[in-house]
Amino acid sequence: MAVSFRQVVDQANREGRVYLMEHEVKDILEDRGISTTGSQVAGSEAEAVKLFKSIGSPVALKILSPEVIHKSDAGGVKLNLRSEEEVRRAFRQIISSIGDKTVTGVSVQEMAKPGIEVIIGVTLDPTFGPVMMFGLGGVFVEVLKDVSFRSIPLSEADAEDMIEEIEGYALLKGYRGSAADVPTLRNLLLKISDLIMENPEIKEMDLNPVFVYPQGYKVVDARIILGEPWERAVPALPKQDLHDLFYPKSIAVIGASGTKGKLGWNVFTNLVCHKFAGKLYPINPKADHIHGIKAYPRISDVPEPVDVAIILVSASITPDVVKECCDCGVKYIVVESAGFAEMGREGRRLEQEMKAIADSYGVRLLGPNCSGIINTHCSMVQSIGIVDALSKGSIGVVSQAGVCAAGMLWGLRQIMDFGIVATIGNKLDINETDMLREVSRDENINVICMYLESVKGGRSFVEVAKEVTKTKPVIVLKSGRTEAGKKAVTSHTASLAGNDQVFSGVFRQGGIIRAVDYEHMFNLAKAVSKQPLPDRDGVFIITYAGSLGVISADAVTDNGMRLSDLEPALKETLKELLPEYVGGLNPVDYTFSMDGEAVKKTIEIGVESDDVGSFIVVLQAEILGSYVDTLKSIDSKGKPIMACVAGKEFAMEDVVKMEKAGIPVYSTPEQCADAISVMFRHAKRIKRQRYE
Ligand code: ADP
Ligand code: MG
Repeated sequence: MAVSFRQVVDQANREGRVYLMEHEVKDILEDRGISTTGSQVAGSEAEAVKLFKSIGSPVALKILSPEVIHKSDAGGVKLNLRSEEEVRRAFRQIISSIGDKTVTGVSVQEMAKPGIEVIIGVTLDPTFGPVMMFGLGGVFVEVLKDVSFRSIPLSEADAEDMIEEIEGYALLKGYRGSAADVPTLRNLLLKISDLIMENPEIKEMDLNPVFVYPQGYKVVDARIILGEPWERAVPALPKQDLHDLFYPKSIAVIGASGTKGKLGWNVFTNLVCHKFAGKLYPINPKADHIHGIKAYPRISDVPEPVDVAIILVSASITPDVVKECCDCGVKYIVVESAGFAEMGREGRRLEQEMKAIADSYGVRLLGPNCSGIINTHCSMVQSIGIVDALSKGSIGVVSQAGVCAAGMLWGLRQIMDFGIVATIGNKLDINETDMLREVSRDENINVICMYLESVKGGRSFVEVAKEVTKTKPVIVLKSGRTEAGKKAVTSHTASLAGNDQVFSGVFRQGGIIRAVDYEHMFNLAKAVSKQPLPDRDGVFIITYAGSLGVISADAVTDNGMRLSDLEPALKETLKELLPEYVGGLNPVDYTFSMDGEAVKKTIEIGVESDDVGSFIVVLQAEILGSYVDTLKSIDSKGKPIMACVAGKEFAMEDVVKMEKAGIPVYSTPEQCADAISVMFRHAKRIKRQRYE
């Protein structure tokens, strides 16, 4: 019997229940064209027998009670009942085992024929709102935790990915022909996504189990918990762009100082030394000039318009200063001072006061507890720590913590070209989603790295990421992965980290590449910023040492890629090129007789092959410098080249030269293979996303 969601919920509301029982949920599902084993209610033994006769043998009997959530634990499930006598006995057993709990009736339903058991669950995530979970039933979920998550609503591709992503997918696919009807299963996930979108009172939902067959499926058990309707986060549409925050014509620094060692000195010195292209106004009642630039006692004394005001005064007076800035018509406020939500209740109160003031003037605020923005394309450095010279690069970094951004700039600027580094701190107003959108719009930026401890934008983060990643790769390092990490995050920036598996799922949904650690993030960033994405999975390895070739080959396979196989004609050309003692054709192992010319000629043969998507070249650290010019001169026709140099830490001068020539250098074959495989999967994903 199909009954609409509204009818069922109204009934539950009248009875003051939030738990919808199996028969109710199955009615709702049937109403939406979802196939279940049914669930007709018997109030007596005689009715159970009657239903048994109309359904046909065998049947299952299950308790229906608003007080019983786990029916089998309560002795309330009897399966495979084949005779009137068995049905009667099962009925009596169920009723007697239930004691004095309220009984709505006993469900009589067809026995589903055996199939592959899967679970589909929905829960409200504090960050992303409703999320769906998918996995294989039983031990796969409970012990192995082999499940996937996506934020709802799901696209067709999301549903497909969710299914393919679990380890147990092999079981669904079967090894000869299909064991499970994956397309229909995908449709089921989409139908559930629609149900949730239309009914925000659903707080939790469990279809456990669903039996999946080579053709079709049956929902065997279902329950729903109702709650307060969740609110869809404000749509991804920007309130306004943040262009002038990144390219201001004038900056006032409130709390600028002429005393070396003070933060107000650092920030102002950074702006002056990097030769910020616009006007600078130090604000300090005790100074006439700072770094030779006229100072003003208050922002209201500045005679010209100010685009960005950086605030560095102590937390307690910051709200007053924010108000003064707003009154003066400042466009953006950057609060670099600390001592807010990360410090506790009083700090949170100050934040709210500040936010209310900025909101009432429609002024956007960055921070507090951040280190401002670096934009080399307008020579602007607002950092709290002194920053050395930077190049006008194409990598954009969005970082929750300023220290993370600064630490990385110190060394990595030698081998990577950062263009923008935007820190977001406590994200009182401007959050990671705003920043991702704005930085991706900048035509100077091609790759975006993000360091996040939490996500405030929720679902709109997914929407924005989906758009951005179609054209620019986004690599995210999200900390707070472990329970211990989570505690540190809470005290650090006063934000709560969500379930880590949910984050992984949602990042994939947004086309984001998730880095596992700090080093990984930059290993990937330099690969995607220096080299094109491979469009096929064949990898061609060239090495000076056999062992490193073998390790590379293993790493390629372990990362889901394969060794390419050259066309016969190209094999012949290659053989002519190689010295006699060189055996294999992939890896090509030059056994310590390799030089720049040999590598160049070999790559040029590989470039011609349809089976080569990328190259790994294993080079000798001791003569690394001799390769730089030759490798730089190769036209690899859109196929990426990664260099592996064992012991590269001891040849840093040449490594820097090689990196500057545009070839990323890694110390292990595993890192090379990992970067290539991440790039290949990303290329595949965005190709599909563009057509979505
Ligand atoms: P609960 O999860 O509340 O304990 P279920 O309805 O999931 O109760 O029943 C427990 C198990 O019994 C299911 O996991 C499934 O293996 C089996 N089962 C229940 N109903 C049926 C049915 N109609 N056909 C086949 N197997 C069933
Ligand atoms: Mg169940």
